[in-house]
Amino acid sequence: MTVRKRFIAGAVCPGCGEQDKLVVYLQEGEAETRECVACGFTEKMGSDEMKTELPTRVAPAVSVDPGVKPLRLVANPVSKG
Ligand SMILES: [Zn+2]
Repeated sequence: MTVRKRFIAGAVCPGCGEQDKLVVYLQEGEAETRECVACGFTEKMGSDEMKTELPTRVAPAVSVDPGVKPLRLVANPVSKG
């Protein structure tokens, strides 16, 4: 089977710093892979990305000082006349 490689427009290679040299392709049974055609840098996507994404999703709730009232950013509807 043929592996389709797509260029990532505007992407900068973390390996060599070249722009528009990164391609992304998906192999059967493999995670999506980014590859630099200039320096050969490869990076697996998918599972690794999920690992870094999870902590931000489950970030601890910001503790709010009970003495501080939250600012109302939504204007109150004021009935005029
Ligand atoms: Zn590169």
